[in-house]
Order: sequence, then structure tokens, then C-alpha cells
Amino acid sequence: MKVLIVGSGGREHAIAASVAKSPKADKIYCAPGNAGIAEYAECVDIGAMEFDKLASFAKEKEIDLCIVGMDDPLVGGLVDVLEAAGIRTFGPRKNAAILEGSKAFSKDLMKKYNIPTAAYENFTDPDKAIAYLENEAKFPIVLKADGLALGKGVLICQNLEEAKEGVKTIMLDKKFGTAGNEMVVEEFMTGREVSVLSFVDGKTIRTMTSAQDHKRAGDGDTGLNTGGMGTFSPSPFYTKEVEEFCEKYIYQPTVDAMAAEGRPFKGVIFFGLMLTSDGPKVLEYNARFGDPEAQVVLSRMKTDIIDVVEACVDGTLDQIDLEFEDNAAVCVVLASDGYPVKYEKGYPITGLDEFKKHEGYYCFHAGTKFDGDAIVTNGGRVLGVTAKGKDLKEARKNAYAATEWVKFENKYMRHDIGKAIDEA
Ligand code: ATP
Repeated sequence: MKVLIVGSGGREHAIAASVAKSPKADKIYCAPGNAGIAEYAECVDIGAMEFDKLASFAKEKEIDLCIVGMDDPLVGGLVDVLEAAGIRTFGPRKNAAILEGSKAFSKDLMKKYNIPTAAYENFTDPDKAIAYLENEAKFPIVLKADGLALGKGVLICQNLEEAKEGVKTIMLDKKFGTAGNEMVVEEFMTGREVSVLSFVDGKTIRTMTSAQDHKRAGDGDTGLNTGGMGTFSPSPFYTKEVEEFCEKYIYQPTVDAMAAEGRPFKGVIFFGLMLTSDGPKVLEYNARFGDPEAQVVLSRMKTDIIDVVEACVDGTLDQIDLEFEDNAAVCVVLASDGYPVKYEKGYPITGLDEFKKHEGYYCFHAGTKFDGDAIVTNGGRVLGVTAKGKDLKEARKNAYAATEWVKFENKYMRHDIGKAIDEA
């Protein structure tokens, strides 16, 4: 089987590594890919938003299965374009990817179908948003740009002044572009966060093992929000009781709600959950694997990814038993110093061969490229150093030990990924 993966990050590297393990995959392409993905796949120089070029390439190469990893092409309708060209594709169509593409849509969906989430109001008029904040809001409060904003469109405001400034940033100054045409004002919740990824075939859902991300740039959850600085899996806070609650009130109800709305969802639904004192609530939905959640979750998946992905496309997921290893994994992101604001690129990376010598250790590339024969830094998040262990503590020790193997100028990482493990 010929497989095409669309994307270029650590997530797509983790997907490519999983696909490469499948005996069904004879040839893997990745568009555009990166220097790490090149170990498994032939990288082709087509951007993830070049839909027509991707469709022509897939037809020309007679691709049997396409897996779209990134949010922008999913929300923009790449799956519809590929399907129209006759390519079997894993990922939600545009009318279902809206689950991630519009926070106002997802909040309304949850309200309509009684799926637990924070109380909220949606606004398209900044004056009405400000009147609401002046007269009805309790602080702190959360403002969210409706559309995709690289994880940066969420502002937590401590008081009215900050909230008014936030409305200006999102809706008037349009810091996040058209993503700020509409805005969600949401109740501030407290609790531990857990990410649960799931495979969905339109009607059946199979959840994967849980994970936890670390969004802030600095140790102790300080500094700016990033795409994610590290993850661990499973989350010790995702107990059987929490899982049972989510199965009953969140997971299947979300899949059923999308189907009832005429937007059947096929692909990965990522549930961003907060475990509040009132029970688990949905913080956000994403319509694809998380990055860097995919790195720790897929490394532990025993089931052949092609079998699961094909079952999602064919609507036969009820016949799949998803299995994960009974161990743990931790991913520590190595970034370029200065990320997520300003950083330099182009520095040679050494030590990558070390990972080939050690079972259970992976170095997923996020921002890298070839410069001649050398691999150099090419982004804010550069690598996701991932290691398994018999339990979380061992996995964390292994992952941090492996971060020492890799050297490049301006290397930056958090030193407290998985600190929550000690509080479990
Ligand atoms: P992503 O990069 O995961 O797509 P996003 O832009 O979709 O991020 P959210 O996940 O909705 O944003 O929010 C980002 C973070 O802001 C959450 O992980 C959480 O820490 C915080 N947050 C969001 N909503 C709330 C809330 N209602 N109460 C408290 N914190 C919140």
C-alpha cells in the first residue's frame, strides 16, 4: 500500500514512524515532511495548504491512503478535495473539522447536546462583548478567538481592564486575523488538564491512552503559551472513574451530536479536558492528533495504525480493539532559545544517531531540515525527545537522559516535564 502523510511536524514524524511499522505500508510519502520523517518517507516539496497539487500528486502516485495530520488543511477542506479526486483519506471533512475550526460552533454544540463544558457567551459585536463584561461577567474570565490561532488565541483576564484590552486585541486589532471575527467569553475553570485522543469512524469512537501536555514556555508553567513543550502518557489523574464519566457524557455524545448535525466526524477527535471539582469538562476539541501528544501516545500503541485508520475511513471501527503497551512515555521538546517569540535557525544538530542504538527511545523531528548532509535547526520547536519506561518516573528519567545526547546551539527545554507525576 502507498501512503501519503500531510504535515511537517513532530506529530507527522510520529505518525510516519507508526505507519512504517505496519507490514501493509510498502511506500510512504510525506508532504512536505522534514529531515526526520525522511528516514521513513520520501518527502515531497508540496505545502500542506496546496490542495490541488496534493490531489494531483496523490493521483499520479496512485496513493491508496492519505493521512492528514495538521489542523489548517483539515479546517480548510483538504479531505473534501482529496476525496473528490478519488483518494481514500483519513481525517474529517471540512463540515466536521469545524469542531476545531470554530470554538463558537463547538460551544453551541456542547450546549445543545448537554456535553459538560464551561458556561459561555459568543459575540460577533465587540460593543456587546464589552457590555457583557461590564455588567454580567465574573473574573477571572477567559476570552477565546473563534478560529485557529496556533494555540495563542486564548486570553485569561483577571479583571475588567484586562478583558477590555483582550476584546480590543482579538476583535478590533485582529491580532489573530479573521479568527477574531467572533469571540467566545467563557467561565474560568480550575483543575488538572488531560488530553484524550480518539479514533472516530462517524459513529463509533475508540479512545487512546491519556496524556498531558505542558503548554507554557517556562518551568513552573510560566511564560508564554507555546505549541507544547512536552507530554507524558498515561495521565495518573485520568482514573477509571473519570474515564467512565467521559465515556457516558462526553465521548460518544460528541460523536452522536456531530452525526445528528449532519456532520459525521471521521478521523481523530482530541478531547482537551479539565478535571474540575464539578467533574470533567471539555476545554476544547481538536480535529487531529495533538502535537506533542501523538509522540507519547502513538509510541505506546500496539494496534497497527493502518488497520485503525482504514477502519475509520470504512466505518468499521467497531471491529477494532485498540491496544496500548502497559508502560509509560515522556516527551521533552528541545526548542530554539527564544521560542515562541524570536529565535535563530540553521544550527547543526549532533547526537541523533544515538537514538538508533537504544530501544524505546525516539527523537521526533519538528523543525529540522537538511543542509547538505547535515541536519540543522529550522523552527521554534526542533525535536521531541521521547522515551518509554516501565512507569512514568522511569520514562521521565530516560527522556531527560536522552536530551543530553542531542546538541545544537541555543538548545532550550523545560526541566519539569512530568513534574505532576510526583503529585499523583
Ligand atoms: P491548542 O493549541 O490546544 O489548540 P487552543 O488555542 O485551542 O489551544 P484552548 O485549549 O481552548 O486553546 O486553551 C488553551 C489553554 O488555556 C488551555 O489548555 C487551558 O490551560 C487554558 N484555558 C482555556 N479555557 C479555559 C477555561 N475556561 N478556564 C481555565 N483555563 C482555560
